[in-house]
Amino acid sequence: MEQNFKDVLDNLLEAVYVTDLDRRIVYWNKRAEDLTGFAKEEVLGLTCSENLLGHVDRRGVPLCRGECPLSQTMSDGKPREAMIFLHHKDGFRRPVRVRTSPLKDASGVISGGIEVFEDAMGYLALEEKIQLLESLSLLDPLTRIGNRRYLEEQMEEKFREFQISGLSLGFLFFDIDHFKRVNDSWGHLVGDRVLSVVAATLKHSLRIYDVLGRWGGEEFLLLLPNLKEGALEEVSDRLRKMVAASDVFLENSYEPLHVTVSGGATLARLGETPQRTLERADELLYESKSAGRNCITFG
Ligand code: GH3
Ligand code: MG
Ligand code: MG
Repeated sequence: MEQNFKDVLDNLLEAVYVTDLDRRIVYWNKRAEDLTGFAKEEVLGLTCSENLLGHVDRRGVPLCRGECPLSQTMSDGKPREAMIFLHHKDGFRRPVRVRTSPLKDASGVISGGIEVFEDAMGYLALEEKIQLLESLSLLDPLTRIGNRRYLEEQMEEKFREFQISGLSLGFLFFDIDHFKRVNDSWGHLVGDRVLSVVAATLKHSLRIYDVLGRWGGEEFLLLLPNLKEGALEEVSDRLRKMVAASDVFLENSYEPLHVTVSGGATLARLGETPQRTLERADELLYESKSAGRNCITFG
């Protein structure tokens, strides 16, 4: 491989490896070392089918001797994408998204394969969560986050954990500002799109064990377990700013629409019910509305 090409691959943020037609590994970059725990020296010259990486699919079925995306790509020349679990040197399974492409020689004949892979932990958690919620009728169909029933169940569950563990539990209640105006000026469909964009922004800014759902109308509730001192303030304000910085694209305008949210944030207290914590968050939210909106009140 040409040196400058190699330098680029070595420093890529994604993991990359290259094999010859016998699936012998001939190149392994730095990120591949990080994600798998295997150093270049440990893998070069070995074949994938020696089962070093032990790729399995979601159901745990080994891919190396069956539907290996890389060998399929090398036989038909078509690129593929798949979500698989690789085997880390320390023994655990790591979800990765892989993309395979054929490597061709100067005359266009397939001479090997390239596999690019990246960590998919966050992706998997979100996608699997959505599928699960849908199958349990706990998904809000418009925004594709949890619905009110999901939130009610989660409030009970997280509260129980909070009471047993003594670790903190934050409640954050958001309401979109002047949402009626959005509907009145742009129509209900644009209003719906605003709800989806706000939900997506919130969904992509959370840790995997945080809970997010649509409480109703233009109201969202977040349950944030195990927050460090000062983290509720930090997270709430970050999310508020993220929403304000989101774009809602309109059909007839180059200028995207922006909305803001007001919030109420509080920590659950021992001895109270989850309903009481929620009431407090709601009262604090209304203080934010009175204070001029696009802000969070803590208490
Ligand atoms: P404030 O800043 O005080 O929160 O004012 P607001 O206009 O956001 O509050 P208000 O409660 O007066 O209006 C909420 C609006 O949200 C009214 C309702 O028609 C609209 N709404 C509720 N659910 C949906 C929905 O699913 N889609 C759309 N497009 N609008 C919705
Ligand atoms: Mg409201
Ligand atoms: Mg509102």
